[in-house]
Amino acid sequence: MKLEGKIALVTGAGSGIGRAIALRFAAEGARVVVNDVRKDTAERTVAAIPAGQARAIVADVADSAQVRAMFEEVDGTVGGLDVLVNNAGIGDVGGPDRDRALGKVEARVGEMLSGRPVTAHWDITQAMSDETWRRMLAVHLDGTFYCTREALRRMSRVNRGAIVSISSVAGLVGMELAPHYGAAKAGILGFTRSVAREVASRGIRVNAVCPGWIDTPLLDPLPPLVRTLAQRQTPLGRLGSPEEIAAAVLFLASDEASFVTGQWLSPNGGLVTI
Ligand code: NAP
Repeated sequence: MKLEGKIALVTGAGSGIGRAIALRFAAEGARVVVNDVRKDTAERTVAAIPAGQARAIVADVADSAQVRAMFEEVDGTVGGLDVLVNNAGIGDVGGPDRDRALGKVEARVGEMLSGRPVTAHWDITQAMSDETWRRMLAVHLDGTFYCTREALRRMSRVNRGAIVSISSVAGLVGMELAPHYGAAKAGILGFTRSVAREVASRGIRVNAVCPGWIDTPLLDPLPPLVRTLAQRQTPLGRLGSPEEIAAAVLFLASDEASFVTGQWLSPNGGLVTI
């Protein structure tokens, strides 16, 4: 029981990695606040946790007023907060930018896998709209800031706490298919390192996890060829599972990582070795 008696809030916990984190945290003794932008999925995660040990709160993390209201609801119902996991995320924002990028995947990845010279250029940044750029940064970077700000206001009262934010290998080495995603995830790493230094004197630890390719609904819109490429590029030869990411998050959130702050851990099957 690595989180016995702790209270944890996990954003985007209605699906994929966030759901696996919420379930693992509950199994380790935590009371879990399950946030998601969708009520039905948040409630499905709560239903998978023993009664009374979890609570669903719907909020869009990209909206600071909704985030503030969520934390006020936590104050009024659950009490304090020991652990925050900034996990909510999107792989694309829909619309013409997404269609344009996905429309190129078949030709481009086909060329990459065959070793033929590349003629299908991505050309994603030059065509991207302001709205697509803003929404990606809003969900990942603004959302991480809004939730971290509220969590710190509470953790600072007791001078303890742990914050883990989900970045990505895209934040470490970039991602040609989604430059806005790579920028948002790299921003989360810079924010993590800075806040870790800022609040260390209060005994609050702040870390990040940078998953490689993980088998979740986030990957559903991608053509099957991308999955093939992901498996080929990953030395362990497969996609990771949400549970394998939850294990890394649990370590950083728990007292076992009591001397770890301002760091990132990258469970990625060997994809990135920096
Ligand atoms: P997922 O299965 O799609 O889960 C993400 C959850 O976050 C969904 O339930 C989603 O709701 C929710 N969400 C989206 N926008 C939100 C918002 N504004 N406020 C609150 N909740 C919101 O994806 P996942 O793969 O588990 O992704 C979890 C995190 O891991 C993300 O930050 C992602 O970038 C990161 N990550 C994933 C991979 C991967 O290969 N899967 C790799 C590296 C990093 P909707 O379904 O309604 O959008």
